[in-house]
Amino acid sequence: MTSRNAFASVPPGQAVEIKGLTKFYGSNGRGKAALDHVDLTIPRGVIFGLLGPNGAGKSTLINILAGLVIKTAGSAKVWGIDIDEDPRNARAAIGVVPQELNLDSFFAPRELLDVQAGLYGVPKNERRTGELLELVGLTDKADAPARTLSGGMRRRLMMAKAMVHSPPVLVLDEPTAGVDVELRLQLWATVRELAAAGTTVLLTTHYLEEAEELCRAIAIIDSGRLVACDETQALVRKVDEKKLCLTLTTPVSELPPALRTMGLVLEAPDRVVFHYKPSHAQVGEVLAAVAAAGLAIRDVSSEETDLEDIFLRLIRPGTAS
Ligand code: ADP
Ligand code: MG
Repeated sequence: MTSRNAFASVPPGQAVEIKGLTKFYGSNGRGKAALDHVDLTIPRGVIFGLLGPNGAGKSTLINILAGLVIKTAGSAKVWGIDIDEDPRNARAAIGVVPQELNLDSFFAPRELLDVQAGLYGVPKNERRTGELLELVGLTDKADAPARTLSGGMRRRLMMAKAMVHSPPVLVLDEPTAGVDVELRLQLWATVRELAAAGTTVLLTTHYLEEAEELCRAIAIIDSGRLVACDETQALVRKVDEKKLCLTLTTPVSELPPALRTMGLVLEAPDRVVFHYKPSHAQVGEVLAAVAAAGLAIRDVSSEETDLEDIFLRLIRPGTAS
């Protein structure tokens, strides 16, 4: 894990500031907004997750920041630079790894990074090709033909490519969509290393686990609207609910009234469930009451409420993907 100290050198200010950001695709501004008056501030020096179901507007938002999509209304600043007032420098402050990977397959990794640095006008003596290859774990493959790179290597190469001009903000659009578990873990490690090296990372995902695992703070969008934005831990804490599950030694057909009035529910003949708030911990009382009612407990487990529960409460029913 990265510590707060790792960002001690990050200058004050915000990485991204968005106000009233609105996008209608199509020329007449009618129909459904892909983004609808989104206000969002992303601090510097964190991994920030933009979370939402498919079609929520995540790619639209980051493509506007990257200068790839023209907004309909609102304003946006990247690293303090307004994308309308100074589009060139705003674009230079951001590196984007797009959702669709289009890796030019002619170049070996080292060549590809050199060519990209040339496109960005990075002078030869300021290029960080070797350092970037090291950072994404491709030093061994620096001169390997692109066709010999695995899917994971290609993705990591795309991250390095987005970093050749040393942007303070790196945007990853669905970095692990459709990849297997092992590769996902590898990519997470790379993202953490980039962040530890001082880059602010903005990633979009529809995997809740990914956001919970990787991101310090999270914004959730649904149908173009911001529905939540907070530190990940705060979002999870907000729900403040746990589930206690008791497995009974001997199945019963119903619970004694005393237990029912405490809020216990018989989910199956041998399974009793109790929802409670950890901040008002009543677990001891519950267990004592169950014992007093003469029910023997074979097993006890408790489940955390997680981001998945929060997500499903916030977004419209039936749209999660
Ligand atoms: P996400 O990345 O969260 O899946 P997108 O930003 O890609 O969402 O899409 C948001 C909405 O905008 C969707 O309804 C999508 O169909 C629409 N959309 C995205 N790109 C275009 C486009 N180029 N032209 C028209 N509609 C688009
Ligand atoms: Mg997308």
